[in-house]
Amino acid sequence: MAKLKCDDYGFECDFVVEGQIEQVIEEFGKHTEEIHGIDYSKEALMQFILRKK
Ligand SMILES: [Zn+2]
Repeated sequence: MAKLKCDDYGFECDFVVEGQIEQVIEEFGKHTEEIHGIDYSKEALMQFILRKK
């Protein structure tokens, strides 16, 4: 299980995604691109998840 929270990355936003790593990467990436205009690479998102452990 993995979890990413928008406000942990400097966004004033309460979006949270939790689940399988692949799902979290896809949903968080889609959210940050659509809502915040930032297109994180899958590698960058993977690093966010790995650093949280
Ligand atoms: Zn957000």
